[in-house]
Amino acid sequence: MQEVRCASCGKLLCRGIYTQIEIKCPRCRAMNVLRTVSPQPERRERQIQE
Ligand SMILES: [Zn+2]
Repeated sequence: MQEVRCASCGKLLCRGIYTQIEIKCPRCRAMNVLRTVSPQPERRERQIQE
């Protein structure tokens, strides 16, 4: 899992698996917009030889 920390004060906001998240820090009230770009392996359909 990934830790989501405030970019402003470093407070741990939440943990989880995310691709895109918007969370407001309760401490410093900074809006954190986070996005993880996970390189997805290209799925190439293999030709199945019969
Ligand atoms: Zn903060």
